[in-house]
Amino acid sequence: MQKIRVGIGYDVHSLAEGESLWLGGIQIPHTKGTVAHSDGDVLIHAICDALLGAAGLRDIGKHFPDTDDEFKGIDSKVLLKRTIQLLSEKGYTVGNVDCTLCAQRPKLAPYIDQMEVILAKLMKVDVDDVCVKATTTERLGFVGREEGMAAHAVALIVKE
Ligand code: MG
Repeated sequence: MQKIRVGIGYDVHSLAEGESLWLGGIQIPHTKGTVAHSDGDVLIHAICDALLGAAGLRDIGKHFPDTDDEFKGIDSKVLLKRTIQLLSEKGYTVGNVDCTLCAQRPKLAPYIDQMEVILAKLMKVDVDDVCVKATTTERLGFVGREEGMAAHAVALIVKE
């Protein structure tokens, strides 16, 4: 019998000058970047958590701990690839993923298409099955003050 499950993911990283900014698998030129043990790709981390949660596999910190040197500075695309591998070991493939990136600056619209293409390829789905949205928080809260960025994701996974 076909099994369909959903999962939710949320991640936050603080911002600092002199750090690089990776979002949705691409490096984005900006005055600040995310502070993290990995490359700090907050969008991919939220997606990984949504996928792992859907499969009942807890979260990214359980599988790729930030205390482990193996993951120091790691490209988050590798983490997403490994997440898909963990899902496939349980017989799941990705149905679709929807996510929202919360960032006051920079303008992310020019990068969204490219993010969707990269994420779809990593998750082995059509580009149409990945939706990346971006919003500011109207200058409110830590995102609005440009102290950090946040991302929300939901994922649907399927076992035939
Ligand atoms: Mg993270």
